[in-house]
Amino acid sequence: MAITAPPAVPDEPYVLADDPVLDMLNTLANIDGVPWDFWQTDADVERWLVRLQWVEEGSVPEFEAGTLLNAARQLREVIRELVKLRKDDQPGNPAALNSFLRKAVSHPQLVWPASGAPQLERQRKQQTAEQFLSPIAEAAANLLVAGDFTLIRRCEHPECILWFYDRTKAHKRRWCSMALCGNRHKVAEFRKRKLKL
Ligand SMILES: [Zn+2]
Repeated sequence: MAITAPPAVPDEPYVLADDPVLDMLNTLANIDGVPWDFWQTDADVERWLVRLQWVEEGSVPEFEAGTLLNAARQLREVIRELVKLRKDDQPGNPAALNSFLRKAVSHPQLVWPASGAPQLERQRKQQTAEQFLSPIAEAAANLLVAGDFTLIRRCEHPECILWFYDRTKAHKRRWCSMALCGNRHKVAEFRKRKLKL
C-alpha cells in the first residue's frame, strides 16, 4: 500500500457531507490535528454560498466588511452545538438559532413570464447578513426536526471533526471520505499489524 503524504490544506472547504447544512459545519476542519477555518474572509463565505447553491453568483448584497463572515461563523457554531446535542439525544437550547430564524422575512411572489406558466417564488429580505443567511438557519432547523440522526454522524477518525449524512444504501458509511480518513485508518491498521508480527 502506498503511504501518502499528509494532505496540505486545500484551497476550498470539503463538500462531502451529502447535506448542505452539515457541509457548513465542515468549513471548520481538523487538518493534521490542527483546527483550520476555511472561512477567513467575507469572500470565502460568499464563494461557499455560491458553490453550495445557497445563492446565485453575483446575488450577494454588499454588507459592511466582516459582517457576513461574523454572522456565518456564528450561525455555524450555533448549528454545530445543536447538531451535537441532537446526536447525543440531549436537550438543546434553540434560542440562538431562533434569533436567526426570527430575522427571516419572506413572502411568496407570483412570477408570470410572457411565455410560459406562472410560478410561485419566495422573495426574501436581505438587509442584514443574518437575514441573508436565514435560509441556512431554516434548513438547519428542519434538519434538527426531520433529520435521521442515526444516519447523521461524525467521521470515525478520532482526529476528524467532519460530519456527514449517510445516504448510502447499506448505511455503513464510516468516513468523511476514503481519501481523507479511510486511508489514514487503513495505514494505521496496517502499521499496527506490522508491529505485532
Ligand atoms: Zn474524517
